Amino acid sequence: MLEPAFRSWVEVSLSRIAANFRAVRDAVGPGVAVMPVVKADAYRHGAVEVSRTLEAEGAKWLAVSSVEEGVALREAGITARIVVMADFLPAEREALLEYSLTPAIHSIEGIRELDEIAAMRSRNVAYHLKIDSGMGRLGALAGAAELLEAITVARHAWLEGMMTHFASAGVYSSTQTDSQIQTFNGIRAALGRAGVEPSYVHMSSSIPIAYGRREAWGNMVRPGHAIYGYVSPVRGAAPKKIIEVKPALAWRSSILEVKQAPEGALIGYGGMFRTTRPTRIGVLAVGYADGIPHRLSNKGKVIAAGRLAPILGAVSMDLTTVDLSEAPSLRVGDSVVLLGEEGEAAIDAQQIARLAGTISYAVLCGISARVKRLYR
Ligand SMILES: *Cc1c(COP(=O)(O)O)cnc(C)c1O
Repeated sequence: MLEPAFRSWVEVSLSRIAANFRAVRDAVGPGVAVMPVVKADAYRHGAVEVSRTLEAEGAKWLAVSSVEEGVALREAGITARIVVMADFLPAEREALLEYSLTPAIHSIEGIRELDEIAAMRSRNVAYHLKIDSGMGRLGALAGAAELLEAITVARHAWLEGMMTHFASAGVYSSTQTDSQIQTFNGIRAALGRAGVEPSYVHMSSSIPIAYGRREAWGNMVRPGHAIYGYVSPVRGAAPKKIIEVKPALAWRSSILEVKQAPEGALIGYGGMFRTTRPTRIGVLAVGYADGIPHRLSNKGKVIAAGRLAPILGAVSMDLTTVDLSEAPSLRVGDSVVLLGEEGEAAIDAQQIARLAGTISYAVLCGISARVKRLYR
């Protein structure tokens, strides 16, 4: 096998990204626009390449977290509408206009400020108003009357979309999502009675899409995780999933050294692991600085020659030691799978997260910038 000469790299399947996008689009149907979320460098899959792929598949909207992320996409030639979801600093308002980014606005003050800066430039700027329907993070807490006043007074900033975000989408044993939908719809209805009807209404991230919570779809959805091939498990009595998606990212690392340790040898920092038999140790060119959770120390597994192989001892900054006793064919320069499939074995971000006491999102986003990225 000819291996890329990298210490550690991810392989991203753009055709899987495209297929996952189509799965979401088919599930929600033609009346619901799909706005894939490509924030945080597309959950580390590479925002530019992922966005190009999605645009080629027909995505008309993309969502990012910050102005900087939106600007990077524009500079790479992305022409789809881009919603900036996670707020912006006062100093970034100019760039929003300059790069034709569409802000999510989170307060009455925010509507006024956007209107002012749009007026100064004699421009009309669309915004999506985010309502805090009970998540308690970003979003306007104002009542419908105050919102109505701010929306109608603005001459250059115009309400194109209304959105909210759920705190407990994955907890079917809780009524929080239902009450958030109710709060949101109440405000929406009050604005509607006054003749204010935004073109887009959106509430749902991957979980309410995947579990078919149609009353939360509005006419636009915001899938992130599902685009990358994941739908987190939910708690409580959830309906059946209505979409099938597959992970688009695999992560590998090269073997730097192989050595035979005797029985009773201590491996790595703190002597955390002691061999109980002569053990073929592989030293991998990857560590927690690359994004391997330190909590996988003495606990995690990799796939070596198609079989699971345990991580031995502490994960260190740049190196990780594994047991290659069951993979005698592997030599220095060969690679193992940290996340992905090989032979009969598979490890996904959810399994890693469970072992490491974190969430799959954090595992993917934790893959650091020094890990090379290849596209298939
Ligand atoms: C990240 C994010 C999403 C996408 O969430 P997933 O669970 O990854 O689908 C949607 N909406 C908002 C506001 C977000 O911040």
